[in-house]
Amino acid sequence: MSEPSHAGAILTIDLGAIAANYRLLREMVPGAECACVVKADAYGLGMDRVAPALAAAGCRTFFVAQTGEGIALRNRLPEATIHVLNGLAGADPRDFTDHNLVPVLNNLAEIEAWARFCRERGTAFATDIHADTAMSRLGLTGQDVALLAAEPGLAKGISVSHVMSHLACAEEQDNPLNGRQLAAFGGALAALPPALSGKASLANSSAIFLGSDYHFDMVRAGAALYGIAPVAGQPNPMAQVVSLQGKILQVREIDTPQTVGYGATHRAARKEKIATVAVGYADGYLRSLSNSGGGYIGGIRAPVVGRVSMDLTTLDVSSVPDDQARPGALVELIGPHNPIDQVAADAGTIAYEILTSLGSRYHRVYTGGGG
Ligand SMILES: *Cc1c(COP(=O)(O)O)cnc(C)c1O
Repeated sequence: MSEPSHAGAILTIDLGAIAANYRLLREMVPGAECACVVKADAYGLGMDRVAPALAAAGCRTFFVAQTGEGIALRNRLPEATIHVLNGLAGADPRDFTDHNLVPVLNNLAEIEAWARFCRERGTAFATDIHADTAMSRLGLTGQDVALLAAEPGLAKGISVSHVMSHLACAEEQDNPLNGRQLAAFGGALAALPPALSGKASLANSSAIFLGSDYHFDMVRAGAALYGIAPVAGQPNPMAQVVSLQGKILQVREIDTPQTVGYGATHRAARKEKIATVAVGYADGYLRSLSNSGGGYIGGIRAPVVGRVSMDLTTLDVSSVPDDQARPGALVELIGPHNPIDQVAADAGTIAYEILTSLGSRYHRVYTGGGG
């Protein structure tokens, strides 16, 4: 992390907003537990700071993707329940039990390996089972579930914490796949033999908004905690968490026709005032924001003109008064005028990718206690 005076931009992460989002989601699922997903360094926002803030707000259960992430989180939160979505992934089962991590077992081979380990140790270590219902990434197929039902001895010795699945289109409330996956998940829960039944978990952030049929015993919220809009095409009820302010290095007045940036993709035909900001694609300010993104200075929009380069981005600040568009001034690249979902739309991607791309050169500031 950079010194404020050396950094090209300041990234502010509001832990109080994350805690408020957690409380809002928890209130929406009164009969279920709200677990928090902090994989990928809490979606780029810093698991070391975000997870303790969530724990202080009352969260007891966390999900990460990888074993290493789980071990890092265990060191931070000795008391939390930590689930690892990617399952054993070839690791030694002891890597989980030594750190009290719950793997999400994703296929029959993992279930057999975990069951063997539990029998050898004479301990039924907790695990989750993932049933695939439309993603075709990880998780047991319907055939696998049927096989386990027919041969429950394969999994003898294990103790299931949660049976889970994951929706493909939860942010689209009218998508008929949601209901089909809900039915398939119910089918998998019913088909698993009693020894492999546990609590049930289906919903990510967006699925919380599909209604109580989707909540089961535990929901797994990630994106909405971090301010990403959970429902496509509807106002975002979540508090904004991230703001990014880029520093203007230089302002150039163009009065003869001139091109701007690599590839000469912007041509200033008239008088134009160009501000060069010290943020580029190396910082996760995506190159696809070239000629489509924008910043705000004093609430006035300054469109990105020309290509975003590795360390620099050029903005047309012609409509911004000179005393505001000057070297050293800060431009809002993400913030109240420019929420992450808008930045993502400008970049042709989703806000998840904007957050997880946020770079390491920013000066990071954490605000809000999160208690
Ligand atoms: C990432 C992930 C989540 C969290 O999803 P959000 O859309 O960020 O709320 C939940 N479940 C699984 C299996 C995931 O991979």
